[in-house]
Amino acid sequence: MSTDNQLKFTVERHSNPTPAEQIAASLVDPVFGRVFTDHMVTIRWTEGRGWHDAKVEARRPFQLDPACAVLHYAQEIFEGMKAYRGADGKISLFRPGENAKRFRASAARMSMADLPEDVFLQAVGALVDIDRDWIPGGDGSLYLRPFMFAAESFLGVRAAAEYIFCVIACPVGAYFKGGKSAVTVWVSDQYTRAASGGTGAAKCGGNYAASLIAQTEASANGCDQVVFLDAAEHRWIEELGGMNVFFVMDDGSLLTPPLAGTILPGITRASIIQLARHEGMTVTEAPYAFEAWRADAASGRVRETFACGTAAVVTAIGQVRHAGGEFTIGNGAERDVTQRLRTLLTGIQRGKVADSFGWVHHIA
Ligand SMILES: *Cc1c(COP(=O)(O)O)cnc(C)c1O
Repeated sequence: MSTDNQLKFTVERHSNPTPAEQIAASLVDPVFGRVFTDHMVTIRWTEGRGWHDAKVEARRPFQLDPACAVLHYAQEIFEGMKAYRGADGKISLFRPGENAKRFRASAARMSMADLPEDVFLQAVGALVDIDRDWIPGGDGSLYLRPFMFAAESFLGVRAAAEYIFCVIACPVGAYFKGGKSAVTVWVSDQYTRAASGGTGAAKCGGNYAASLIAQTEASANGCDQVVFLDAAEHRWIEELGGMNVFFVMDDGSLLTPPLAGTILPGITRASIIQLARHEGMTVTEAPYAFEAWRADAASGRVRETFACGTAAVVTAIGQVRHAGGEFTIGNGAERDVTQRLRTLLTGIQRGKVADSFGWVHHIA
């Protein structure tokens, strides 16, 4: 790690931190994204001055002018990563350098300030360190949410001249309530997530804002998540609202849609491709049509389908619903490949399986 970009962080501990018993209680089966740790990290950027005012401080609301640019033009990006407490008590992050790189790529697409990777890692490490008592053991983890937004008070339409970078954290358990073994997905034939030339490959809040109407439609149809098709032909499977997707074929190979600018380049996706190949499996990145998925599920050519991402890790898709009906994946119960990849990946993340890829980053 280069030290050129290291910023000096001011540390101001919370004056009235959460008592240990209360932390312990909030680590028992926390709902995703509701309970937050005591601290946050903030760094400011202004044109001409660059990054400054790096702080670890008590978590508190921001004061924003009503003309704050992000409230009008949605110049905002984020990351999602987790800190784990291994069986040996060691604290680790999974491929944090990849999140730092992707954050820079998202910032570039959204015309935002470039945050050096080592500063990103320093900020995340500082929050994990000060709030380490909030990292659950067992199957839980501390979800970290680095984000950046346009903080300039100005209604003119151009890239802002001021940004705030912030990291917050929340202890999490299973992403899907009740630790479901498989989810039901809704295939939207009306709404799309990203078009060629758009922001599909950037992790920005705007992509999520645009996907919520389809998520509402999914919920109304009794589904957990949305599967988006491509914007040009409404035919090719792209990804879920916040997860990438893989198909397990009857010859044991994996298929996943290729990254072509409209799909978010998931770190879990990349890790599964590498892991599966290392295990001797064939992985193909190729376009796959919704019609083919339906026919292949019926014929048995597709045995399993799973979604993957940091929050939900690896989750099997059991049922697929769409405007024209529904279908089941495989026999609805046996999901050997999904289960095996999930066990391997979570095993590496938690220090139970040897990390032959150098993915695990220990925090002192
Ligand atoms: C974050 C995200 C993913 C998953 O990325 P990971 O790096 O694996 O967490 C997939 N799709 C979308 C739209 C996302 O925002």
